[in-house]
Amino acid sequence: MGTRVKAVLFDIDGTILKSQGAGKRALEHAVTDLFGTTGAMDTVQFQGRTDPYIIHESLEPAGIARVEIARRMDEIKERYFSYLRRYIREVDVVLLPGIRDLLAVLGRESVIVTGLLTGNFVEGARIKLGVFDLFPLFQTGVFGDDTSVRNEMPAIARERIRALHGTAPDFGDMVVIGDTVHDVECGKRAGARTLAVGTGWTPADVLIAQGPDLYLDSLGDTRQALEGILRLLELQPGPPN
Ligand SMILES: [Mg+2]
Repeated sequence: MGTRVKAVLFDIDGTILKSQGAGKRALEHAVTDLFGTTGAMDTVQFQGRTDPYIIHESLEPAGIARVEIARRMDEIKERYFSYLRRYIREVDVVLLPGIRDLLAVLGRESVIVTGLLTGNFVEGARIKLGVFDLFPLFQTGVFGDDTSVRNEMPAIARERIRALHGTAPDFGDMVVIGDTVHDVECGKRAGARTLAVGTGWTPADVLIAQGPDLYLDSLGDTRQALEGILRLLELQPGPPN
């Protein structure tokens, strides 16, 4: 029998940091270079959506075929990353309160795997989190490269943790942390525990109405956030460090 493993999976935008429009701007410029239009991007809701979903939802209404978008996805990604690397330095990316401390305390819980569950492409995640050197603190992740459908991500996370540790957590031993109704929905659909955090752009009442297991205005109070997460995972807090 393998050791039991539990997982805490973080969304990025609005949960860990705010990239102040750098991501959207980079994506607009990338698709304009390649397709001459941003299509319906102005009307597409980015929050809680995966990058490939946003790209398809933007370009398909402009008459660009789904297969054509898929065929050129690597090209779109490369351009997006090169703009993002530039634009991310031109804005003041905000690290949301408590993140660094929370990752540090979670890192000391040996039974917990800390991972990402984000619609960002992995390289986009690396660029955004790289502003604060946070990317290496995550042992695993599921990204927009893996699927355009957020609700598929918890199952992929499980398999990735199995590959890493030889044991997969039960869905009930996973906490999905995010700032949108889509984060809450994907966690709930999978049978994971959900922690909604009010640091994004979604009003608290809207998040609470989605029925997360826990809602916090922010992750800024490390003790409160850690205790909440441990409770969702049915773990006892260890001795104070
Ligand atoms: Mg988010």
